[in-house]
Amino acid sequence: MANFSPAFLDEVISRTDIVDLIARHVELKKAGSNLMGLCPFHHEKSPSFSVSADKQLYYCFGCGKGGGPFQFLMDHDGYAFPEAVEYLAEKAGMEIPAAVRQDPGENERNRKAQEMLAGASDAFARMLAGEQGRKARDYLKQRGMPEAIIRDYGLGYAPPGYGFMQKVFAAAGREQQVSARLEALGLLFKGERGYGDRFRDRLMFTIRDRRGHVVGFGGRVLGEGEPKYLNSPETSWFHKSDLLYGFSEHRDTIRKRKQLVIVEGYMDVLALAAHDLKIGLAPLGTAIGERQIREILRLHDAPIFCFDGDRAGRQAAWRALERMLPLLKAEYTPRFLYLPEGEDPDSLLKSEGGEAFENRLNHDAQPVLATWLAGLKLLAGTGADGRARMAKKADAMLKSMEDTYLRQAWRQEVEQATGISLQHEMCRPSARSDAVAAGEAVQLTHLQENFLTALMQKPERFRELPDMAADFFVDNERIQALYSRAFSIKADAEAETIDIARQLIREFPEDQAMISRWINQAPVQDIEYKSLLLDMEANDIRRRIKRGLSLDDSVRLQKRLGELQGQQRKLSEQLNAEKADNTGA
Ligand SMILES: [Zn+2]
Repeated sequence: MANFSPAFLDEVISRTDIVDLIARHVELKKAGSNLMGLCPFHHEKSPSFSVSADKQLYYCFGCGKGGGPFQFLMDHDGYAFPEAVEYLAEKAGMEIPAAVRQDPGENERNRKAQEMLAGASDAFARMLAGEQGRKARDYLKQRGMPEAIIRDYGLGYAPPGYGFMQKVFAAAGREQQVSARLEALGLLFKGERGYGDRFRDRLMFTIRDRRGHVVGFGGRVLGEGEPKYLNSPETSWFHKSDLLYGFSEHRDTIRKRKQLVIVEGYMDVLALAAHDLKIGLAPLGTAIGERQIREILRLHDAPIFCFDGDRAGRQAAWRALERMLPLLKAEYTPRFLYLPEGEDPDSLLKSEGGEAFENRLNHDAQPVLATWLAGLKLLAGTGADGRARMAKKADAMLKSMEDTYLRQAWRQEVEQATGISLQHEMCRPSARSDAVAAGEAVQLTHLQENFLTALMQKPERFRELPDMAADFFVDNERIQALYSRAFSIKADAEAETIDIARQLIREFPEDQAMISRWINQAPVQDIEYKSLLLDMEANDIRRRIKRGLSLDDSVRLQKRLGELQGQQRKLSEQLNAEKADNTGA
């Protein structure tokens, strides 16, 4: 993983305008000191998605997603962190530091590779359109594939025999070099008698990464032959377990329509697209893996996993379910759809059309819990020992679930189904792992939330806090860490110009949604802040008194509490007077 220096990241952020970045996908309108729009991450009718142009942070008060420009690209476009940094740095005209790039020539090599892969895709497409592509065209015609789909998804044809790729990229005098490069891209293989084309006499599918760059190919045999599907080998650009076919092509439609179907193969994805269902994704010829499921759930919280109704299909569904369990959260509602035996999406779409297929998706897909219970039952068999096996297997699987609430809910379902009570829930110390990284809520009272909001919005308020304020969050480990860090940043006189929110987000990336929320809350006025501070101090004193102190301390604190209440009264009189003034005016 690339390590960018804080100074570099700051520079990228300061050269990026998050409003521009977000406005490409969300219509933003000025609302108070922020901009508001309809959230791109969840379905809503009135805007709860806020962007602070001032602090360059966004937050959705509906679904809780929030962060800065890197996070937006990660959440919205599925970029990995280094990709998001590189993308924005490039846009800002900045060089990626050599220390990160390790090899300064890498940029150039990547660009060249992208060019060649795109060139190969075009060459296959030309072949398909030409005389030699007739067989492949006939096949596509027979499968009912429209011209627009063939063009938009980069379908092509690799001719039989050897030498095609070398001819496409011919460069006099540099044959060896070009062949080596094509091999690195997975387009040629090196045998005893030299280089040969990897794809021969195959219908070609262009595979793109999340950004839409061509990274590899799938080739389907025409007629008889093995293997039926041949993919590019793993290369620096092509990582099968990270990719989903159709991702860059369908991402926007999936978000807009709030529909996502995972199917088995390339032809299924294309058949759906041909029926105006540009909502399909498929793994690349292998069983779906954890990284792909993570990607899917990031894109849409209610995906439908579509499987054949036969034994193999049910096994594949079970494997997907097992991989999914650790990632599942109560907020996700994936469903499973088994198709009638002997059918696949392609054949069903052909026989019954797009609308009927959409109906199946909407009405026949089963919730993940029901699928799990049915699968368990099937595995365990009948009778008392069957129920015991079911409980045992369920118990083992439940242990992999991270979401403790969902785990308890599912546990109860199994207990009901089997009549067996499962081993008692062990309190697992939740490692600061995915659960935290994914922004599990931190418990804050209304007062604490408003107080932190007031501080973050005007960091100079940190500077004026009384000493005792350092203990305000001792009972909340996670907040205390953040809060004391903000304290120390602000205490450093030279750090006056440091943007506290940005600094904290860098040091506590798992808390960035929360920090973004504070920044995007309605501004807290000075007088309100004073009142909040008094309340915080009063609460802190009550906490100390409760904890049991020497008599002296207790008397002193009681006295202070009395003072605070007096001040609070004065403040609220002042506040009321101001309000009366405002309404009178
Ligand atoms: Zn939202």
